[in-house]
Amino acid sequence: MRQILTLLATLMVVAGSGQAMAQDQSGAGARDALSALAQLDLKRSAIVQSGGQTDIKLGLSQPVPYRAYLLADPYRLVVDFREVNFDGHDPKILLGVPGAITALRWGRFRPGWSRLVAELARPMTLASAEETTGDTPQINLALRPVSPSSFKAHSGAADSAMWGLPQPAEVAPTHRRQDGTRPLRVVLDPGHGGIDPGAEDGGMHEADIVLQFARLLRDRMRRAGIEVVMTRNQDVFVPLETRVTVARAAGADLFISLHADSITQGVATGATIYRLGNDAESEATRKLVTRHDRDDILAGVDLHGQGDEVADILIQMARRETQPRSVRVAQVLAGAIKTAGLRMHKHPVQGANFSVLKSPDIPSVLIELGFLSSPADRKRLNDPDWRARMADAITQGVLTWAQSDAAEAKLLRQ
Ligand SMILES: [Zn+2]
Repeated sequence: MRQILTLLATLMVVAGSGQAMAQDQSGAGARDALSALAQLDLKRSAIVQSGGQTDIKLGLSQPVPYRAYLLADPYRLVVDFREVNFDGHDPKILLGVPGAITALRWGRFRPGWSRLVAELARPMTLASAEETTGDTPQINLALRPVSPSSFKAHSGAADSAMWGLPQPAEVAPTHRRQDGTRPLRVVLDPGHGGIDPGAEDGGMHEADIVLQFARLLRDRMRRAGIEVVMTRNQDVFVPLETRVTVARAAGADLFISLHADSITQGVATGATIYRLGNDAESEATRKLVTRHDRDDILAGVDLHGQGDEVADILIQMARRETQPRSVRVAQVLAGAIKTAGLRMHKHPVQGANFSVLKSPDIPSVLIELGFLSSPADRKRLNDPDWRARMADAITQGVLTWAQSDAAEAKLLRQ
């Protein structure tokens, strides 16, 4: 279980009005003077890495409140801004040749907030953090190497409460299983988003593709009488844990996560449906799962607390009933996609321990619509006709599953 480092050194740097950033959670009132979106000015930005010293300079169109802090596992610098527009700027261009900073990412984090994450090759500390105002506002961050023990004393997660993130989900299985007497409620979960673009290949971004597809699927499902809730409907980062919490809050009968990842090993092509489980998990699948968890940790603050025994037992009990239902969803969806004549992976249904599949009492599957690493899949994902046929096949599969699942629920109750 990962532990949150206690908050020891959070630099609060506030521009202009002197208002603390945490006092302005609503986004109203005090920030009106700064309500226009700040733009990143790449020409006035630089990362200078020399002789162990690393300086980050970010040119902005206007000063913004921001906060910088360091986290471990992996070592990284996180900078949260009142919204800065990074659109159209590739962090790789600012980073140049990786050194003490091995990777850089940025983007929207929550509505009204942006985040920059710099992965560090070694423990470092923030020697200084300042923001210049005037005609050419700039944020200057100076990183200096420190020993791992000294890092521990000066790093820490920011107060997660200020983001309004939900606490880990309540676990008691209170949700009534669907039995066909009310409309089916499906939560669609377009993977990635915001600071986490997901896979990128052939000029395509996974986060965009799956959001576009999810909107289409939502419309098709609604037309078929299914109630649909989306975990995100814009280009914004949503932590994995929040996606599960959204499904619970919505009282979902079914959770479907949508992805289109890249696989660097071997040739992967065609749609794949994952349900929870690690039976014969392939190396490629394991990598996929690890990358999703790692991207989530990198982009968001880790909120996992210590497990509690009673909760664990409740989870296991609920999962014992739910797991066979998830397996059935995966099989029925694979059948529907095949029936529609759409290309599937040679192992169309697989078990994998994706974090979003861990709802104890909501049947959950993750669909890789195709792999961005495959040119043939990219072509299909780009084709509106293919997308419509896939959305219809999934809708049909969900309806078929719901019917047999409801029949089973009635039998169990007798
Ligand atoms: Zn993905």
